[in-house]
Amino acid sequence: MSGLEDLYREIILDHYRSPRNRGELPVPPAHRSEGFNPLCGDEVVVYVIVDGDKVSDVKISGQGCSISQSSASMMSAAVKGRSIAEARQLITAFKATMSVHGQSIGSDPVVGTDADEEEDADAAGASQLLESGGLGELAALQGVVKFPVRIKCATLSWNTLAQALDEVSAPKRLG
Ligand code: ZN
Repeated sequence: MSGLEDLYREIILDHYRSPRNRGELPVPPAHRSEGFNPLCGDEVVVYVIVDGDKVSDVKISGQGCSISQSSASMMSAAVKGRSIAEARQLITAFKATMSVHGQSIGSDPVVGTDADEEEDADAAGASQLLESGGLGELAALQGVVKFPVRIKCATLSWNTLAQALDEVSAPKRLG
């Protein structure tokens, strides 16, 4: 077990030290969304270019703990070049693996402010989806489920991406 944990730690540190798709994109054509996790002070800025129904480019900026930044790096590598539908599927699958099945996190006063409770997709099935997509590295982040306070670090960039995709596909509203 500790061998696996060492491997996971290495994967996380690798993405933290050598983040993929780090940088910024010109707005427009890129869309920029910011996410902030006040529990830890993590900040993630997602730049995304949507071309037709495809996420043609993603860049990540921001700063924070190793979990938040390595998760953002993995997220960018996972969704770049995929269709919006696939990207959304990955978001749902990743968040499902991050949900604490059978555990109470009722002591966390922030719980309930987002849609975590809707994510009752089967976590095992979600893991399989990630792995079948060649995204086994994301499994490295599943270890944080043991530390509920860190779950928001891991999901921050994914929620920020979801927000960006929502904003891109939403009809422009006045006001
Ligand atoms: Zn953090």
